[in-house]
Amino acid sequence: MAGKKQPRFLITNDDGIYAPGIWVLAENLKQVGKVVIVAPDREQSAIGTAITLHQPLRLKEIEPLVKGVKAYSVEGTPSDSIILALQLLLRNKVDMVFSGINEGANLGDDVLLSGTVGGAMQGYLHGLPAVAISVNAWENVHFEAAAILGVILARKLLSSPPSVNIAKKRILLNVNLPNLPVGGIRGIEITHLAGRSYFDLIKKGHDGKRDYYWIVRGTPLWEVEEGTDAKVVQDGRISITPIHSDLSLRENNELLYSVSSEIFRELRDAGR
Ligand code: MN
Repeated sequence: MAGKKQPRFLITNDDGIYAPGIWVLAENLKQVGKVVIVAPDREQSAIGTAITLHQPLRLKEIEPLVKGVKAYSVEGTPSDSIILALQLLLRNKVDMVFSGINEGANLGDDVLLSGTVGGAMQGYLHGLPAVAISVNAWENVHFEAAAILGVILARKLLSSPPSVNIAKKRILLNVNLPNLPVGGIRGIEITHLAGRSYFDLIKKGHDGKRDYYWIVRGTPLWEVEEGTDAKVVQDGRISITPIHSDLSLRENNELLYSVSSEIFRELRDAGR
């Protein structure tokens, strides 16, 4: 990045704009570029990649908690925030998108639910390098290592030529850190997503008029295999999982291929 104009970083999160993690990250990224925060005005956990289509979005510039950073709160989701930032506030002026630093890990299948990953995904879908960063703790969170790592990743991804594969500028990294001070972290690994099963509990109640139901997340049962994000974080190392938006499975589809003509024939016969 030396000699070039300063890169511009866009940061969102799903913990809400006043969550400490986003400001720690902004404070650190400020050392290498311009930082703009556009984030939900309240917690939006488990909102995934949702965008708001059925109500208007309000956007408000707020007094930043870190000097020299511009910040806007959005009455919407992390994805809404990124869309408003990229298509309204900062047209063509963003080099990289961050989401986080999230309190709580976003591992395995949970990337599909995660608002943290969802926000980064929206940046990626706009063709920008994007990084979601989470720390595996909900209290006494060590943000420091995550923030420094964010700066290092920004340098690697934006150096020219990039020292991290940035093919077609489409790269999305889901980063999870153990909740340790920098000196306590045992290593870093490129991982794939762990499988996990949740037994979500349904709690039924009655509000005096009608029944209602709460979905209560059970304890996840991770398939803690070598090379997975869950295993690596559990072992006190940093997990970096490259992810992409293509959910289609290209392998092991022989069975489907072999019956697809049958399926079509049966459909046509049923429509006669
Ligand atoms: Mn969160």
